[in-house]
Amino acid sequence: SGKFFVGGNWKCNGTKDSISKLVSDLNSATLESDVDVVVAPPFVYIDQVNNSLSARIEIAAQNSWTGKGGAFTGEISVEQLKDIGCKWVILGHSERRHVIGEDDQFIGKKAAYALSEGLGVIACIGELLEEREAGKTFDVCFKQMNAYAGKFGHTVSPSPPVDAVPSWDKIVIAYEPVWAIGTGKVATPEQAQEVHVALRDWLSKNVSAEVASKTRIIYGGSVNGGNCAELAKQEDIDGFLVGGASLKGPEFATIINSVT
Ligand code: 13P
Repeated sequence: SGKFFVGGNWKCNGTKDSISKLVSDLNSATLESDVDVVVAPPFVYIDQVNNSLSARIEIAAQNSWTGKGGAFTGEISVEQLKDIGCKWVILGHSERRHVIGEDDQFIGKKAAYALSEGLGVIACIGELLEEREAGKTFDVCFKQMNAYAGKFGHTVSPSPPVDAVPSWDKIVIAYEPVWAIGTGKVATPEQAQEVHVALRDWLSKNVSAEVASKTRIIYGGSVNGGNCAELAKQEDIDGFLVGGASLKGPEFATIINSVT
């Protein structure tokens, strides 16, 4: 549902030189037209990429602050991201949740603010291996979805929820099982499809049937040029969020062109 969406999350990788090479590879690649393509460079290279990358590809940041800028050392505001040419921000990534320690409420606040300022949000969710093995995959994913919807624990807090995303029009949901990220252990097409269906059902019950059918639900975690085609065939996989393989221009193009 919705236009196929492929994001490249470059994480904390690259130098001016390697990024210049990656940009020129992307500029010379042939990309299917019916795909939204976004790359997320580290903050310090966003300007370089924006000045050299084809306008065919939009730029995302890998994080943003919860509100307006000011005395928040080390943070980057949504207004600054828009000023420098970003159209998107990746929020709730598992590395920020599990390595850096961001919680649901903090992430929900960032998403609500970014959307209220007109930035698109790639909202990540996903379970740990032990959660999957304990049969808690849906519980964990729904809890993370609830946070984007402004519901924490069992309550909507406060009421009306100030941290709820103001609109679902500019959200792309990225299902990224933590055990599949950077491990080479990709989810099977059936495993990914099962969770995507459950997420669409969650959207239908908690937001609306219209949002459920329109919202792109993309998969991330060890996607590469070899496994993308099988995943892309699944009815509810509307694209990918790619880490390692997005650092190689030709392979990233293969993933973009896996649109069916
Ligand atoms: P890998 O593709 O390197 O597994 O990373 C996935 C990811 O975290 C994208 O956000």
